[in-house]
Amino acid sequence: MIYRDFKGMKLSNLGMGCMRLPHAEGAVNDVDFAAVAEMAKYCIEHGVNYFDTAWGYHGGKSEVAIGEALSAFPRESFYLADKFPGYDLANFPKAREIFPEQLRRCKVEYFDFYFLHNVLELNIDSYLDPKFGIYDYFMEQKEAGLIKHLGFSAHGELPVLRRFLEVYGKDMEYCQLQLNFLDWEFQHGREKVELLREYGIPVWVMEPLRGGKLASLEPEHGARLRALRDESDAAWAFRFLQGIPDVKVILSGMSNMEQLVDNVRIFETDAPLTEAENAELAKIAAEMLSKKTQPCTGCRYCTEYCPQGIDIPRMIELYNEHVFTGGGWMAPFALRTVEEGKRPADCLHCRSCEQVCPQGLKISEIFEDFTAKLKG
Ligand code: SF4
Ligand code: SF4
Repeated sequence: MIYRDFKGMKLSNLGMGCMRLPHAEGAVNDVDFAAVAEMAKYCIEHGVNYFDTAWGYHGGKSEVAIGEALSAFPRESFYLADKFPGYDLANFPKAREIFPEQLRRCKVEYFDFYFLHNVLELNIDSYLDPKFGIYDYFMEQKEAGLIKHLGFSAHGELPVLRRFLEVYGKDMEYCQLQLNFLDWEFQHGREKVELLREYGIPVWVMEPLRGGKLASLEPEHGARLRALRDESDAAWAFRFLQGIPDVKVILSGMSNMEQLVDNVRIFETDAPLTEAENAELAKIAAEMLSKKTQPCTGCRYCTEYCPQGIDIPRMIELYNEHVFTGGGWMAPFALRTVEEGKRPADCLHCRSCEQVCPQGLKISEIFEDFTAKLKG
């Protein structure tokens, strides 16, 4: 196992993400405790020392299962991370109930790492609102030794990340981002990493394989990679991340022993991609996106022509995310924070924007399709 230094600790570069644990068929919250225990044992025996859970994973059963599994090992032999469930606004007044319950569920006296979970457009105001005192409360827990290191995870767009960092950046020790070779440009991963670097904040990675999509590329893409380096698609995705110096921990949400054994084998070597390999991977990422997404360049020529004041490039960006992912929660979440009357469904189909779009995008049709997909 390869390790990364963080404040005197040696963190395994591969972390076990506990959001896709083995479970009974068709019952995601019916976690297979015996299988989780077996996977945790394999991790510890093979040098994986970082485990990541959260309040909402598997309806709370993730915390219980990994806590139970890790209780078989000395406390100092692993690092456990948990998160405040800020993705649900109803939880903001409940931090003082939730945090002790998380310690209890996980059977630990303290968390090595604790995250303000999922900072994004929907909850940034609540995270910053002194009425809830989220930041103060968790800083107190840190001073009391119940949290060793405090950070945050973010799914928001760059302006939200910037706003959060302006207020709390000096006290955040790390940030967890969705990062992979596709989102490096698609979700502005590179710019987010650069922004965090300005604050001296290292990166923890979630979704390195984008929900498994990057572990099974189209055969033609896979063959092009294999011509350069004989490693699996998943290994290529991990090697890309190994080349980013800011990245300390790469979380993989593993669901069975086979995936775990394979990932542990990949992380036995530190073998970042060469410049030529990175270039080929970037080309493949662009090809993958161009097949499914709209090539809006963000020039904004269109926006002043829209009688509805719709932020057209931003809506197309959300559409692209939604289409590429095949649905998912991100676009619907982001749209909830868009002013009423300025959403894709509010498009009048006047086509004024289309007259000036240098890419020739059929914007009104894109918004019609987006609206239908969100309803469907
Ligand atoms: S077609 Fe829709 S998005 Fe384009 S200018 Fe008209 S209202 Fe705005
Ligand atoms: S004019 Fe076309 S390419 Fe430019 S921002 Fe608008 S939709 Fe995107």
